[in-house]
Amino acid sequence: MAGRADLTSYAYRKLRARILAESNVCLMCGHPGSQALDHIHAVSRGGAELDPDNLAPIHGVEGCPVCLRKCNNDKGNRPLSEVLRLVTSRDWYAGP
Ligand SMILES: [Zn+2]
Ligand SMILES: [Zn+2]
Repeated sequence: MAGRADLTSYAYRKLRARILAESNVCLMCGHPGSQALDHIHAVSRGGAELDPDNLAPIHGVEGCPVCLRKCNNDKGNRPLSEVLRLVTSRDWYAGP
């Protein structure tokens, strides 16, 4: 997968810790407890890789403790910006 090696970089891990400390509400399902981040605009399509504004919390391999979805899996290979256009029609941001 493109850019995977960069995702384990020190800078990325530091940024991830900072962003998740501020908010771990998943952008896909609106529940807290995210363990991962995803790029809103795909890096392969020109999105900034280490820009906090381009990174959003998402449930990773451990899944959501509330709705049990594996949001990053559900999203598949689509960029988050595309998926969000689909989910913004519901109150995904309203939280629990
Ligand atoms: Zn989620
Ligand atoms: Zn959830």
